[in-house]
Amino acid sequence: MSHVIIAGGGLAGLAAAAALGGEGYRVTLFESRAFLGGRATSFPLSPSDEDSEVIDNCQHVLLRCCRNLLDFYRRLGVDDSIRFHRQFHFLEPGGRMSVFRAGLLPAPLHFAGSFRRLSFLSLPEKLAVARGLMALRREYGRRRDLDQLTMLDWLREKRQPERAIRRFWHPVLVSAINEELGRMAAAHAFQVFRLGFLGRRDSYEMGVPDVPLGSLYSSESWERLGGVEIRFRSPVERILIGGGRACGAVVNRETHAADFYVCALPFERAAAVAPDARLDVSVFEHSPITGIHLWFDRQVTDLPHAALLDRTIQWLFNKSGGRYVQLGSARRAA
Ligand SMILES: Cc1cc2nc3c(=O)[nH]c(=O)nc-3n(C[C@H](O)[C@H](O)[C@H](O)COP(=O)(O)OP(=O)(O)OC[C@H]3O[C@@H](n4cnc5c(N)ncnc54)[C@H](O)[C@@H]3O)c2cc1C
Repeated sequence: MSHVIIAGGGLAGLAAAAALGGEGYRVTLFESRAFLGGRATSFPLSPSDEDSEVIDNCQHVLLRCCRNLLDFYRRLGVDDSIRFHRQFHFLEPGGRMSVFRAGLLPAPLHFAGSFRRLSFLSLPEKLAVARGLMALRREYGRRRDLDQLTMLDWLREKRQPERAIRRFWHPVLVSAINEELGRMAAAHAFQVFRLGFLGRRDSYEMGVPDVPLGSLYSSESWERLGGVEIRFRSPVERILIGGGRACGAVVNRETHAADFYVCALPFERAAAVAPDARLDVSVFEHSPITGIHLWFDRQVTDLPHAALLDRTIQWLFNKSGGRYVQLGSARRAA
């Protein structure tokens, strides 16, 4: 049985471990911290209290078209902890709400009814967006320069009105990609619309875990898979390179060898632990998200979630009876 060493127990390392373990490989995963999940994890609010409320570092969601993430949850046997929502709510300042959901028409016309009823866009803005979506469908997979063009350039090329950019394209894309329109390649934005909104009728449905993120990766799930050994508090100090390939991982000053190695560390850590690989990560940057957790002494909303228009905050999630809500905001252009 081939042996694989994985560095990093965030989503990438865990998904690799689940897939390889599930296919019969023997896997050893080294994680520097005492818990799994990396950026997609949860923590007790009061660590010293055994009954402390456990909260996510920030709300994580997926769409039904995120097939690899769903495959990971299925392998761990936790896919039934993801609740899918068929309805998006857009709230304007002042509280006017528009609802977006699939209607009876077949894809890609399934949003036609909802789109017509959106109250936050004028009729000319809707016509412009519809033209934009048709152009996107036409150019997807055909136009060659989409990874050199920003989405903002593309939207301007297609003469999208500023308010339609701000109220339609921006909230959808910045929530999905966590980057400003002027900093994301049109190719990535196209993929969000093509897979999430213009593909299958149900691919836009939003999945929200109904348990804390950390419990999705519990030890029982890994026992189910077998073949995967997870070592906590075990930072990989160095990945050894020889003859043009990885040939060992140094952990706690001990060298571990395997048939294959997967480095699932954040880019700056990967470059630091594998200096001989000479990775040039100078072009990469992190794109931060702000997560705000608010607790109220009464119910403040009965919506499960909402996109907030014309605000710095883009999303609201109702975590518990409308009294505990999480707000999320992607970075804004400087
Ligand atoms: C606030 C927030 C909200 C987000 N919301 C969403 C969302 O709604 N939907 C979505 O799809 N994505 C979302 N993301 C993005 C998603 O969380 C990340 O893309 C994903 O978790 C990254 O996983 P990763 O495994 O690549 O990296 P990480 O999560 O960074 O994992 C790296 C792991 O490596 C470990 N490590 C570091 N150095 C070493 C070492 N030397 N040896 C061993 N282990 C080491 C770290 O402890 C960590 O566990 C969000 C991210 C944030 C921060």
